[in-house]
Amino acid sequence: MISVSNSFVGHVFSIYLARSTDEEVINTKVASGGAVTAILSYALDTGLIDGVVTAKRTSGLEGEAVVARSRKELLATVGNKWSIVPLASRIRAKIEENDLNQVSVVCLPCQAQFFGQMRDFPMLETDFGERIEYIISLFCMGTFAFETFTNYLYRNHGIRGRDVKDIILRGDVIEVHHPGGVLRLSIRDIYQHLQVGCLVCSDYTGNWSDISAGIVETKPGWTMLIARNKKADELIKNAKKHGYIEVTDGSPFIGDVITRAREKLTRSQKNMMYLF
Ligand code: SF4
Repeated sequence: MISVSNSFVGHVFSIYLARSTDEEVINTKVASGGAVTAILSYALDTGLIDGVVTAKRTSGLEGEAVVARSRKELLATVGNKWSIVPLASRIRAKIEENDLNQVSVVCLPCQAQFFGQMRDFPMLETDFGERIEYIISLFCMGTFAFETFTNYLYRNHGIRGRDVKDIILRGDVIEVHHPGGVLRLSIRDIYQHLQVGCLVCSDYTGNWSDISAGIVETKPGWTMLIARNKKADELIKNAKKHGYIEVTDGSPFIGDVITRAREKLTRSQKNMMYLF
């Protein structure tokens, strides 16, 4: 295990490849290995946290903020997040409705920045950063401007947004899974349907998180985990010690993450040039 610091992926305490030891979790999360679900199950089971606030896909690409208090409820939130769910505005209500004191937030890098800044530098009486125990950020190349992308899918491919079952990024190709099969689109051809903010966003992994998590192309079936501090590293190690995940050294695969992070930064810098 090596520790590295890299300007493209932010501060790194440790890097792992991990996957759940729970067959049901693995079968539900074939692509990613289910390590985040497994680690959060461990944290819930042992009382480290009393809830997880995350996004759950409702229909097609749409989603909503939900609270999961158990492994079963976590499994119901599985799925890539391709439309942005306004977690920041909903999380306070969710925390209060559910009487939560120590939560994990699973979010996108832009949301991790909001939660991280609120936790580390609280400014307002309404801030609730002291209730956030762990921030887990998913790798993100962008989310779609919902209406323009669903219009594009329907107009050009006859697929209704509500019928989209899943969207999976494979290299430079996006697979849209729908009732009639799988539509493959070049990512470059659909950049125009991303949120404008995503086109100038430079953070791929979520620099403000405690743990960044995502898939690397060269190791399907495993989750790349970047722990950014000792507490996050201990959470991963303890989940392993208690049999929730299996873990190997992820540092040989960090190059894949750095490549994506560099691409995103380059895209952001190019788009920023057009703005000013
Ligand atoms: S690309 Fe950036 S702004 Fe867009 S959803 Fe991802 S993290 Fe947020």
